[in-house]
Amino acid sequence: MAQFDLVVLGGGSGGYAASLRAAQLGLSVALIEGEKLGGTCLHKGCIPTKALLHSGEIADNTRDASHFGINAQLIGIDMVAVNAYKDGVIAKLYKGLQGLVKSRNITFVEGFGKLVGPNTVEVNGQRYEGKNIILATGSYPRTLPGLEIDGTTIITSEEALNMTTIPARVIVLGGGVIGCEFASVWKSFGADVTIIEGLPRLIAAEDESSSKQLERAFRKRGINFEVGTKFQSVAKDASGVTVTLENGKTFSADLLLVAVGRGPVSANLGYEAQGIAMERGYVLVDNKCRTNVPGIWAVGDLIPTLQLAHVGFAEGILVAEEIAGLNPRPINYDGVPRVTYSEPEVASVGLTTAQAKERGHDVVELTYDLAGNGKANILRTSGSVKLVAAKNGPVLGIHLVGSRVGELLAEAQLIFNWEASADDVAPLLHAHPTMSEAMGEAHMALAGKPLHAHG
Ligand SMILES: Cc1cc2nc3c(=O)[nH]c(=O)nc-3n(C[C@H](O)[C@H](O)[C@H](O)COP(=O)(O)OP(=O)(O)OC[C@H]3O[C@@H](n4cnc5c(N)ncnc54)[C@H](O)[C@@H]3O)c2cc1C
Repeated sequence: MAQFDLVVLGGGSGGYAASLRAAQLGLSVALIEGEKLGGTCLHKGCIPTKALLHSGEIADNTRDASHFGINAQLIGIDMVAVNAYKDGVIAKLYKGLQGLVKSRNITFVEGFGKLVGPNTVEVNGQRYEGKNIILATGSYPRTLPGLEIDGTTIITSEEALNMTTIPARVIVLGGGVIGCEFASVWKSFGADVTIIEGLPRLIAAEDESSSKQLERAFRKRGINFEVGTKFQSVAKDASGVTVTLENGKTFSADLLLVAVGRGPVSANLGYEAQGIAMERGYVLVDNKCRTNVPGIWAVGDLIPTLQLAHVGFAEGILVAEEIAGLNPRPINYDGVPRVTYSEPEVASVGLTTAQAKERGHDVVELTYDLAGNGKANILRTSGSVKLVAAKNGPVLGIHLVGSRVGELLAEAQLIFNWEASADDVAPLLHAHPTMSEAMGEAHMALAGKPLHAHG
């Protein structure tokens, strides 16, 4: 039996990050992957969606070119070429990642593995023993009871990433991050889009003010949405699908995208048989990603933390460092940057106003409107920077809406994670004219010395 310091099951963001860091720290590592190294994020998630969104942005810019004095006309969207561009980005990154794994002397095992002992994984009849095992088998797109995915008219994000045509009318079931991103892409590509969301607002995990602004922007873009009412049934016919909601309303379209969340990949993998504590299919862990079985760890979408690639990276690195004896600090999940990459983008770090109040903070808020920002005017985007802070204390949350605001999170997360107050940030210079100035202006205003803001 092949023996290693660490055996990692699943080569997505969590699993490969753990493997790379462990190998860097001198551990012998076997990384087992049933499909493609890089997992959901690289092949079916973050990277392909962002490539499609970028194509969508170019389509929108072409349509709007006359606003900027440029004579151009959008003649059409060539989905074959769009996919070729997207697949080219993935292929380059995939090659780079494979090279990286190889260069760190990680034993890469192709095939689906199963946990057959507290320190043993079996793949294709071969056993791999690890002093430590990391479970990183990720997640899959969920559906609802009675809603069968057929892959052609009722699809998940996986099929949506490889469409060769643009639907004339599409219904997106689920107004969370993934649903809003696809709605944005398809609208940019010229489809008639309707989002259906059971919760009272789009991207309900975000601050209420961000949801309201996104809803306003989507309305302006002609993206239809129906919130606060649940899906009841779907009927297929020759022209597509008709969705009925619990409030009796019906919507018809050529295509239904089901984006109602992702569930953990944990069934029939031997986890329960080895006595690992689980809940609703998620593997339960402590703040160092340890399961209740000594030597078995779990990271990424498989555990009930935020389902984001950079969370998977951080958890993988945390476990590798813990195994190597570095005693790393647990992750502060409040400090995880979060972005919805629709047009406009929504980005945040830290607490929403509601969360800050729930936790007993004496909250002050400040919203800086991007209307006062030079670069936002040049780009013709609108939105805001909203700060949530403790009275006479640190910034507790930063909430951003507008084109490209995801890039502003780099600074926002430093402010939050270093527990800076508005007074700490106000004296820092921000290059003019950049969108980042809005971050500086918001903190100046909260510190009582607004420059380009009234009041
Ligand atoms: C459409 C979409 C867009 C997204 N966009 C973003 C984004 O912009 N930013 C962001 O941060 N996150 C995004 N995410 C989320 C991100 O992709 C996930 O959080 C991340 O991939 C989780 O990493 P993971 O390692 O836990 O799981 P995964 O990436 O799912 O990797 C798990 C791996 O394990 C393998 N595996 C499973 N079972 C076995 C087995 N028995 N044996 C061997 N291998 C196995 C799978 O093949 C897979 O490669 C997006 C997700 C989707 C679906």
